[in-house]
Amino acid sequence: MPGEFDLIHWIRAQQTTSDLVKLAAGDDLAILKWPSNDLLLVGCDQVLDGVHFDSTVHPARAIGRKAMNRNLSDCAAMACLPAAALVSVALPKGRDIEYAKELYLGIKEAGDKFDCAIVGGETGTWDGKLALTISILGRSDGIAPVPRGGAKPGNFLYVTGPLGGSLLGRHMTFEPRVALARQLAKGNWRLTSMIDLSDGLSRDLRQICNASGLGAWVNATAVPIHEDAIEMRRDGRAPLEHALHDGEDYELLFTSPDPDVTPAILIGAIVSDPGTWLVMKDRSRVPLEPKGWEHTF
Ligand SMILES: [Mg+2]
Repeated sequence: MPGEFDLIHWIRAQQTTSDLVKLAAGDDLAILKWPSNDLLLVGCDQVLDGVHFDSTVHPARAIGRKAMNRNLSDCAAMACLPAAALVSVALPKGRDIEYAKELYLGIKEAGDKFDCAIVGGETGTWDGKLALTISILGRSDGIAPVPRGGAKPGNFLYVTGPLGGSLLGRHMTFEPRVALARQLAKGNWRLTSMIDLSDGLSRDLRQICNASGLGAWVNATAVPIHEDAIEMRRDGRAPLEHALHDGEDYELLFTSPDPDVTPAILIGAIVSDPGTWLVMKDRSRVPLEPKGWEHTF
């Protein structure tokens, strides 16, 4: 029966490399050549069966792709280039080696699109459910990273695409906005803050506001609504509610002093008073409460 070493052997044979990788996975540690003028950005993200995917519904390859794409989306949120990733998989006992290979191929497929090599990892089996943890290394490559906390009063608030209803399927199939983020950050738009929309516009906007010590208003009629959000109105919640709160859109939310950032959609503005508000069609204001995804313990 094939075991861990057969899987490791197979993974080594699949590895793609990049200019940064001096020694690929297979030794005790991999070795990367890091350009001396590059900032190193690091992060880690975990996906869990029953929380971020459903292993009885989603194929292993799609699960692997999503796990990697969430990390790549964090690179987009900082406007950095994905460089390398480390993958840790907790595999339920009874899943065979072919299942583990499919997970790996999904991770690799997503990474290869961005020249992001998998340079290490670990696979263990246990009595629990499937869990994947990926650590990502990103590099600035000539573009200053865009953190969450730099928004200024009077900045305009933008999103990069339509929102809501991702549960219909997009939460598994989204494309990380790395190229667009880099285009935005190196343009003349002087981005002051940015985040990727994983937890929902209402919750992620709070992250920008809290980090910047400011508030924001959002124009209800300007929020771009995805057709999936319209489809999901059958659950009794309006499409706008889905767009504001669903999450896992993986579009970018950012701020700029420029009123005309052409690749994005203007939805509101940053203000000095704390709190987040929705401005309705009749110009009345209602509090925009964060109702997006939050892990509870
Ligand atoms: Mg993020």
